[in-house]
Amino acid sequence: MEVCLRVNLLACGSLLARAFRYVLTPPNSTQFRIPAGGSGFANLVVAGDWTKNGIDAGCAEAASTSGMLASQHISGYPRRIKDYTDQL
Ligand SMILES: Cc1cc2nc3c(=O)[nH]c(=O)nc-3n(C[C@H](O)[C@H](O)[C@H](O)COP(=O)(O)OP(=O)(O)OC[C@H]3O[C@@H](n4cnc5c(N)ncnc54)[C@H](O)[C@@H]3O)c2cc1C
Repeated sequence: MEVCLRVNLLACGSLLARAFRYVLTPPNSTQFRIPAGGSGFANLVVAGDWTKNGIDAGCAEAASTSGMLASQHISGYPRRIKDYTDQL
């Protein structure tokens, strides 16, 4: 019983710790998001829902769009990213 409780507490603690690091979108924070090619290093391209991707919120669409933006930055493809390119 005690072991079970400890394991559960550890699992909850690690989930909570990760949740605290989740990138939210408070007002006026979008300007600080890093675009795919904005890491400051020529050989480091970033992707993830926390980057500047035109959606700028924690969701699967933001993550996949950022992946396409990273690919575009590296290889030039995809040439057009539906919805993202349409916003520009
Ligand atoms: C509880 C919850 C519910 C959600 N529900 C929805 C929903 O219904 N619909 C929706 O669209 N979105 C939802 N989201 C948001 C969605 O899950 C995220 O937007 C999406 O997973 C972000 O993808 P990502 O690739 O940017 O990051 P992640 O999916 O977080 O992927 C990052 C990966 O990098 C790994 N990693 C981290 N650090 C390192 C390291 N140092 N070395 C190696 N690997 C590392 C992590 O383990 C992880 O696998 C939800 C999120 C949460 C937390």
